[in-house]
Amino acid sequence: MIDTDNYTTIVNKLMQKNATLVAVSKIKPVADIEQLYHLGQLDFGENYVQELVDKQEQLPKDVRWHFIGHLQTNKVKYIAPFVHLIHGVDSMKLLKEINKHAQKNNRIINTLLQIHIAKEETKHGLDEVEMSKLFEEFTKERHNLKNINILGLMGMASFSDDKTIVRNEFKHLKALFDTYAVHEFPNWHFRILSMGMSGDYDIALEEGSNMIRVGSLIFGKRKPAQKG
Ligand SMILES: *Cc1c(COP(=O)(O)O)cnc(C)c1O
Repeated sequence: MIDTDNYTTIVNKLMQKNATLVAVSKIKPVADIEQLYHLGQLDFGENYVQELVDKQEQLPKDVRWHFIGHLQTNKVKYIAPFVHLIHGVDSMKLLKEINKHAQKNNRIINTLLQIHIAKEETKHGLDEVEMSKLFEEFTKERHNLKNINILGLMGMASFSDDKTIVRNEFKHLKALFDTYAVHEFPNWHFRILSMGMSGDYDIALEEGSNMIRVGSLIFGKRKPAQKG
């Protein structure tokens, strides 16, 4: 069951900001996605490759699938034919692999670079130094990466009740976004800042997010025993 009240509230807030909602449907059944799809939602986010592939096969072809989990290089091939945006890219190796499979599928794949902004150790993503190295490497190799499009940054704030900590992490990500947005190549064209989840999307929007990834507020809590 989806929470249509929460969904409507979020969509209305986003309209004023010209921002996009990615409805995070991981672990949730196809029937829930269909219900939201019939309300007009087209952007859905998933964390696990096999689950994404299974769902993509069962749902209408105009759904825009966002991969928001940690993508292993050996699994790129499964989502390359259809994925709309890959949010969690944090290495040159992965960029090259995405480019290779995009080429095989004769398409250009949109990506975001994931930045590590939270205090938690377990989260994936680049720190500032790694980001700067990746950019350097990218500028040298960009002519060999014609089948990817780097559209911006993604990040997850700390799971903290302290709103100041969360806000500062988003501010930091926005500043980094602005720094790299001044660079412009055909395949480096910053316009998406993906930040904000169920617990912190209001703060994220105030700090300049234009794409939020919301799951539990819309689809209900995920069972803690399950991954994700
Ligand atoms: C699960 C997940 C979300 C959604 O989380 P909610 O708190 O349920 O809104 C957003 N982004 C990423 C990267 C996730 O893994």
